[in-house]
Amino acid sequence: MQQVAIITGASRGIGAAIARRLARGGYAVVINYAGNAAEAQAVADAIAADGGHALPVQADVADAAAVERMFATAIEHFGRIDVLVNNAGIMPPALPLLAETGDATFDRLFAVNVKGTFNTLRAAATRLAHGGRIVNFSSSVIGLGLPGYAVYSATKAAVETMTHIFAKELRGKAITVNAVAPGPTATELFLNGKSPEAVERLANLAPLGRLGTPEDIAAAVAFLAGEGGGWVNGQVLRANGGMV
Ligand code: NDP
Repeated sequence: MQQVAIITGASRGIGAAIARRLARGGYAVVINYAGNAAEAQAVADAIAADGGHALPVQADVADAAAVERMFATAIEHFGRIDVLVNNAGIMPPALPLLAETGDATFDRLFAVNVKGTFNTLRAAATRLAHGGRIVNFSSSVIGLGLPGYAVYSATKAAVETMTHIFAKELRGKAITVNAVAPGPTATELFLNGKSPEAVERLANLAPLGRLGTPEDIAAAVAFLAGEGGGWVNGQVLRANGGMV
């Protein structure tokens, strides 16, 4: 039977690259998105054109009921779920210092990045097939501690903590739980609001001297989701060209 992967936030950026990569590897994929239906459909169409199976499913991951519906839809459509990639996430383009961060920004960051991950992990606990894989999304900025990233980093630290503990709580199900922590990666989330000079400065922090690409990060996810990653559990894999 074909294995099935849910990728949250797969209409654009890193998530779209993960969906394409896992589909090429033989998975049927659920392309989750929040608002960009047309972009999610375009990702699904490109996968179908390559002979793969993809289903776009709208769900704000911050909404527990919507996440439950997404899992039910995935099982109704594909019959099973083997892999969950918790890629959906947001970062404020303005990157305010902590003292200048408004309540609404704080609340939305925690709602999407932390509650969103919690919602899908909780659903996966009873829905993922024996032997399944979960890949969460942190960020290498936790290691850098850059000013402007306090609240965003705090959301990703929460994700890392849930990763370590959930891996242990799933004992007996043969499900691995890991996180990928990208460094600066060329997507809207990273590029929005930054000058070309700021982008270049951040790209040069890595000894490999460039930004990551969505495909670089998708390769790390494919490793953790695939056969070769089977003995890696409860870990955070920083994929950042050696930046930190
Ligand atoms: P993008 O902004 O390019 O894409 C974000 C994706 O997440 C879109 O598909 C978007 O859907 C979706 N999304 C946003 N909010 C929600 C929500 N509430 N519910 C469901 N889907 C949602 O981001 P990236 O690809 O750059 O980031 C992917 C992950 O990688 C994030 O967790 C991010 O924190 C992390 N990361 C990124 C880095 C980078 O430099 N790019 C560095 C470190 C970590 P829609 O199109 O419908 O809006």
